[in-house]
Amino acid sequence: MSFLEYAPAPESTAILNLKDSYGLFIDGEFVDGSGTPFHTISPATEKHIAEIASASDEDVDRAVAAARRAYEKTWSKMSGRDRGKYLFRIARLVQERARELAVAESLDNGKPIKESRDVDVPLVASWFFYYAGWADKLDHAGLGANPRALGVAGQIIPWNFPLLMLAWKIAPALAAGNTVVLKPAETTPLTALIFAEILQQADLPAGVVNIVTGAGATGSTLVRHPDVDKIAFTGSTGVGRDIARAVAGTNKKLTLELGGKAANIVFDDAPIDQAVEGIVNGIFFNQGHVCCAGSRLLVQESIHAEVVDRLKTRLSTLRLGDPLDKNTDIGAINSAAQLARIRELSDIGEAEGAERWTADCAIPEQGFWFAPTIFTGVEASHRIARDEVFGPVLSVLTFRTPAEAIAKANNTPYGLSAGIWSDKGSRILAVADRLRAGVIWANTFNRFDPSSPFGGYKESGFGREGGRQGLTAYLKGAAA
Ligand code: NAD
Repeated sequence: MSFLEYAPAPESTAILNLKDSYGLFIDGEFVDGSGTPFHTISPATEKHIAEIASASDEDVDRAVAAARRAYEKTWSKMSGRDRGKYLFRIARLVQERARELAVAESLDNGKPIKESRDVDVPLVASWFFYYAGWADKLDHAGLGANPRALGVAGQIIPWNFPLLMLAWKIAPALAAGNTVVLKPAETTPLTALIFAEILQQADLPAGVVNIVTGAGATGSTLVRHPDVDKIAFTGSTGVGRDIARAVAGTNKKLTLELGGKAANIVFDDAPIDQAVEGIVNGIFFNQGHVCCAGSRLLVQESIHAEVVDRLKTRLSTLRLGDPLDKNTDIGAINSAAQLARIRELSDIGEAEGAERWTADCAIPEQGFWFAPTIFTGVEASHRIARDEVFGPVLSVLTFRTPAEAIAKANNTPYGLSAGIWSDKGSRILAVADRLRAGVIWANTFNRFDPSSPFGGYKESGFGREGGRQGLTAYLKGAAA
C-alpha cells in the first residue's frame, strides 16, 4: 500500500439517457436494420449496454441512396457559408453534451474517463470548429480554382477513438460539400449513435450523414457499393489491403489510415524526466490502442539502465481499473479478441528471448485487462519489435549513434509516426529529416491538433487527415 491512497471517484452514469436498442440512422431518422442485431458491452464489466441494429446489404443501399439524394437536392446546392453554420452548430452541441459523450465513450470503449473527457471529446469539438471555418474558404485553400466535392463518401472507422475518428472523417467531408455514410466499429457504436441524435438536434438536412452499424460485412458492402464516390478507412493493414483491392479499377477515391510501429528515440542529452513522461504517454495512453503509439523505444545505450529504471518506477504508480473513475490511468482492453492478441504477442516476445517486466497492479475479476508491460533486450528481428501489438506493451531497443537510431527507426514496414527526445534542436531537425514517418514529435508525443495533417507512409496507408491537406481527400482534382 502506498503512503497516499486514492478514494474511489467514479463519474456518474446518470447523465446518460441510453435506449435499450438503437436502430440505423438513415435519412435523418432512426430505422430498424434488417440484419441480426448485436449487443454492445462494457469491456470493463462485460455487462450489456444496448442492442444495436446490424445493416444488411439492402440497408447499406438505402443509406447510400439517402446520401445521394441529400447530395443532389440539398448539400451540393448549399453555400459553403451555410454548410459551415451546420458544422459550427454540431461543434457547439458536442461541447454542450461533452460530459454525456465522455461517459458513453468510456463505458463502451473502456478508456479512462480523464482521457475521453480531456482529450477525445474536446478534440472532436475542435475538429468540427476547425472544418466549419474552412467550409466557405475552399476557393482560398490553395487547392486549385473552384474545388468541387466528390459526392457520397463511405467512411469506416475503428474502435480505439470511436467519436474522434468519426469527427476526423465527417467534419472535412461535410465542409468540402460531400454527404456521408459512416460505419462505426462493432464494439464501439454508442457515441456514433448519440452523435446521430446531435445531428437531429442541429437540424442537419436529412441524408447528409447516415450511420450504419454492423460488423466487417457491412463495411465491405459499403466499400463495394457502386454509388459511393470515395472510401475513407481507418483500421488494420489487412482490411486496408482488402479495401484497396476492392476499390482498384473503379472511379472511387481512397484514403487509408492503417497501423503503425512508431519509434520513440531518446538521446543521452534528453531531459530524462520529461522523456519518461513522454514514453509513458506514448505507449500507455488509451491502453496502447493507438495507431501512432510509441511502441518501440529506442534509447541511447549510455542511458538505457537509467531510463528503464525510472520507467518501471513511474509505471508502478499508474492506476489500472474502472474507466469511469477519474483517477484511473489505464482502462480496459477493448475486447476479448484484442486481449487475446496482446497476450499472444507478449508470450511470443518472451519465447523469442526478450525480458518481460509487468507493473504490479491488481487486475479486476470481470472484464478485459492487461497490465502495463515492458520488454527489454528486444532485437529488431523479434515479433514484438515488428508487429503492431495495439496494447500497453513497450519494446525497448538500444542504439549508439544517431545513424544507428535512424536505421533502426526506419526498419519497419510501417511509417506513421515517430518521436525524438534531445536537448539539441539541430539534432532533432537532422534526425527528423531522415525518418520515414508521417508525423514526428519532438520532446513530446501523441499530440493532436485539427490544423496539423496526420497520415502515414508504406503499410501505414496513404492520404492525410487534418489541416488544409485533409480537405484534398474530399475534393475533385485537389492537390495539397
Ligand atoms: P479492423 O480493420 O478490423 O476494423 C476497422 C473497421 O473496419 C471496423 O469498423 C470493422 O468493422 C471494419 N471492417 C472489418 N473488415 C472489413 C472489411 N472486409 N471491409 C470493410 N470494413 C471492414 O481494425 P480494428 O481492429 O477495428 O482497429 C485496429 C487497427 O486500426 C489497428 O491496426 C490500428 O493501427 C488501426 N488504426 C489506425 C489508425 C490510423 O489513423 N492510421 C487509427 C486508429 C486505428
